[in-house]
Amino acid sequence: MISIAIDGPAGSGKSTIAKLIAEKLDIEYIDTGAMYRAVALYKKENNLSLDQLIKNLNNINIDYKKGKIFLNEKDISNFIRTEEISKLASEISKNNSVREKLVDIQRNLSKSKSVVMEGRDIGSVVLPNANNKFYVDASPEIRAKRRYEQLKEKGISADLKNIEEDIIKRDKNDKTRKNSPLTLVKDAKYIDTSYMSIENVIDKIIKIVRSNNAL
Ligand code: C5P
Repeated sequence: MISIAIDGPAGSGKSTIAKLIAEKLDIEYIDTGAMYRAVALYKKENNLSLDQLIKNLNNINIDYKKGKIFLNEKDISNFIRTEEISKLASEISKNNSVREKLVDIQRNLSKSKSVVMEGRDIGSVVLPNANNKFYVDASPEIRAKRRYEQLKEKGISADLKNIEEDIIKRDKNDKTRKNSPLTLVKDAKYIDTSYMSIENVIDKIIKIVRSNNAL
């Protein structure tokens, strides 16, 4: 079985990269950020304080199937990509009870099959024994520009400076929190994607995976 862990900050391209690698190797893709976003959406929809959210964690059923995220059986994939949910997900992800619940789900999903899983704590906490670990990164300016272009393509107007400020804030939240911060673990391969095309990044990762796993 192959386990590929991809960690990195917001906008580093890890979702696109992980999805394409899963396709190429014909294994399952798991987006753990979508799960934190699902919990954030639950909090928002039910108008809960953080304490109330924690008390309600047992009522939250999260599932991830074929690239779609389900919250209490409802497909919410199209409702979790707003800037508001991004910020809220970053907030609730500091909480240990939230993390324990989601890490459990993530480990179960990867128990019996080959996966490429992406997030912030995959190599460090969720799959510490993964045989292929990567940390993808890019400068905040470049990550902001990528997000700006994505929004523009969708016809959504946005302010580049605001996006960059949000990215820097989220980086700080994710890297400095007490519980499972985003870190570069020793056995992960660091890839700076600032000046690389997606194809180049994927080729590089697949080459390493093939040689690690004798594929
Ligand atoms: O990757 P994405 O931007 O969708 O993640 C949303 C938020 O969820 C991140 O800013 C981060 O705070 C949190 N997250 C996390 N651990 C993960 C994945 C995401 O804390 N494994």
